[in-house]
Amino acid sequence: MSDHQNRGQDFSLEADSELRFEIEQKDAKVLVTLVNGFAELFGTELVKKKKYEFGMGAKVAIFTYQGCVLHVTGKMDVCYISKETPMVQYVNCHAALEQFRTEAEEKDRRGPVAMVVGPTDVGKSTLCRILLNYAVRVGRRPLYADLDVGQGAIAISGNVATILIERPASVEEGFPKTAPLVYHFGHKSPSGNSVLYNAVVSKMAEVTLQSLNGNKRTKSSGIIVNTCGWVKGHGYAHLLHAARAYGACAIFVLDQERLYNELLRDVPSSVHVVLLPKSGGVVERSKELRHECRDQRIKEYFYGNARAPFYPFSFEVKFQELRLYKIGAPPLPDSCMPIGMKAEDNKTKVVAVTPTPALIHHVLALSFAESVDDDVIGTNIAGFCCVTEVDMERQVVMLLSPQPRPLPPNALLLWSELQFMDNHT
Ligand code: ADP
Repeated sequence: MSDHQNRGQDFSLEADSELRFEIEQKDAKVLVTLVNGFAELFGTELVKKKKYEFGMGAKVAIFTYQGCVLHVTGKMDVCYISKETPMVQYVNCHAALEQFRTEAEEKDRRGPVAMVVGPTDVGKSTLCRILLNYAVRVGRRPLYADLDVGQGAIAISGNVATILIERPASVEEGFPKTAPLVYHFGHKSPSGNSVLYNAVVSKMAEVTLQSLNGNKRTKSSGIIVNTCGWVKGHGYAHLLHAARAYGACAIFVLDQERLYNELLRDVPSSVHVVLLPKSGGVVERSKELRHECRDQRIKEYFYGNARAPFYPFSFEVKFQELRLYKIGAPPLPDSCMPIGMKAEDNKTKVVAVTPTPALIHHVLALSFAESVDDDVIGTNIAGFCCVTEVDMERQVVMLLSPQPRPLPPNALLLWSELQFMDNHT
């Protein structure tokens, strides 16, 4: 490590600029301290003199409205100050949402539902984080709905999830992922089962909109909805479906004029559609890197991270005790369907899965549903486990699970397309 990395470097930022850096090397550690002025990371204020630690994979921007001095030690792969940021436009969006919230509060109405849409890697999740942080910083308690089944920022990919945001995200760890409402989908992209995806989104919208009535502060704070980066063809149809299901009053479109114009054409004129630039700092991820991020999230689900490690458990379950199901049966032509059923109905059918060696590495969701006669799609998920071994001879599977005890006797597991190789050492 060179001398100046050891001793560190001071960066003086003018008002409305940001320090961007990326860390790619394994075991790299970068410490950032706010020495002077005010600064924030994706909407969370930094505390003066506190050391913030970032490790491999970090891609961050520390922004200042007033100007600041930051002290940084450690090796970064990319590091520069930018004066071109869209933060003023983003804070204006927050201000507009605040107007809706104030009005909602006065009239005891539901606050705004704002959707963030755009292609992959334009900073959708980051904008959601900024808007949520700004909202809690002025005393709101919004919900954060993540419909992006590709990344799964709240639960793990393959699911849609919602959490209540009660405090700003941690600078190093983001929002706490405690007590989310999770619905199982089972695929990495809505295209895995379009009918099911829409059904799950409708259910999530219905349940969370209803839940707003139970808490006055959350009711007027509204919901920020993150969406998938698939914005063409069927992907676009999914966005329209979500906007309708949530009764979105604002749609923030990042970076794509075509999508913006399509939405202007297709949503009711009462919906505010706003085109926003993406930040030049957002880093494009390759397909492989996106895959890695997905894997990393699942690994973190079972093993935690260096700051808070978890110790998962492994246990066997006999085939005959395994109540494993999959949502969506293979398509049948309409002519083969029982009278009164459409081919589409098959897509949301709950079907039993017989264990075979192909089950290895698959992530399974543990449903709160007690039987397949329940509304399985509309019942939330308690947690996940992963198949680490299938022994056809002994007719058992080995499961990796965050819970120590064997599965509850009536546990209903749902198959997902996601796989996780448990090579943790
Ligand atoms: P999307 O949700 O559209 O896929 P993200 O919000 O996840 O995009 O952003 C992609 C990556 O870019 C994330 O790792 C995020 O931390 C990083 N990022 C976002 N904004 C900035 C910025 N202004 N400077 C540097 N990195 C950024």
